[in-house]
Amino acid sequence: RAEAAMFEVKASGRNSIRFFEPKMRSQTSRFLEISNHLKHAIDNNELELVYQPQYSFAEQRVVAAEALLRWNDAELGRISPADFIPVAESNGFIIPISDWVVNTASRQLAEWRSQGLSDLVLAINLSAVQFRQSELSKHLAAIVSRHGVDPGSIEFELTEAVALQDPVLASLTMQRLKKQGFHLSIDDFGTGYSSMSYLKRFSVEKLKIDQSFVKDLKDSESDRAIVKAIIEMAHSLGMKTIAEGVETQQQLVILEGYGCDEIQGYLYSKPLSAKDFLEFLATNSKISLDGLRH
Ligand code: C2E
Ligand code: MG
Ligand code: MG
Ligand code: MG
Repeated sequence: RAEAAMFEVKASGRNSIRFFEPKMRSQTSRFLEISNHLKHAIDNNELELVYQPQYSFAEQRVVAAEALLRWNDAELGRISPADFIPVAESNGFIIPISDWVVNTASRQLAEWRSQGLSDLVLAINLSAVQFRQSELSKHLAAIVSRHGVDPGSIEFELTEAVALQDPVLASLTMQRLKKQGFHLSIDDFGTGYSSMSYLKRFSVEKLKIDQSFVKDLKDSESDRAIVKAIIEMAHSLGMKTIAEGVETQQQLVILEGYGCDEIQGYLYSKPLSAKDFLEFLATNSKISLDGLRH
């Protein structure tokens, strides 16, 4: 059963359908190990959020930050979300973990507001698994409002997998989230299976261009063509774009030239602790990207 579950997880992971290998057994025990420890991660205070700035070309400042989970288990040490999120999705922990994320991010945003960060938007990742929760939009709105945070300052990042499992339910839930006032974006855009008709039907405002297309932007003519096409399509459908994983000046210059709206990546800043994020803004908010362009 564990192996079947493991296979399911692998199959549903991003671009990662795999066949049985001898390695499978050790992957299974790693999976169980993570699963057993993850059960106690919230109670043991082992989860933390870090925040990565999102920079707007038009506004020449950080307009938003993406909240990203970090887990430091007493015994296993630091485990990447890329490794534990799939486990959480398969055993249902993703629901309490996500509630913890939305709660913690909202509390943080409320605190930043009181410290003068008036119009920052926080982007929060949602799992496709959560879209099977009934009343998801009401549930999320309730958590956010507990902290006096306006849903308009929260953006939920969804992956294309959301549309894949039940397009009708997904578009209904997305409409409800929009109605509550939340912003929506599609994460890792271009790696999944979204068709143009979904894009039209789903009320998302922003596409996050996956970092796999950004990585070789300088040398790959086809990646440049794809990125340019995504940006043009998004704009003609009234959506904005943000490029993920921007690490070099060359990537920045190309993206800006194509009219990409925002960038996120190590070039501008790595994900930062809440304290470091505030300090980063205090020292860098007046700095445009001129220093990074040359
Ligand atoms: P994602 O949502 O696509 O997040 C972007 C990932 O790219 C993050 O990895 C971030 O640290 C990394 N990144 C940012 N800039 C750069 C760069 O310039 N170069 C490179 N190479 N990487 C960069 P991270 O934090 O390890 O998260 C991995 C994935 O785990 C996320 O991908 C997301 O799918 C998932 N995840 C993280 N936090 C949460 C959460 O709170 N809830 C859910 N459901 N999933 C989460
Ligand atoms: Mg533990
Ligand atoms: Mg994301
Ligand atoms: Mg992404």
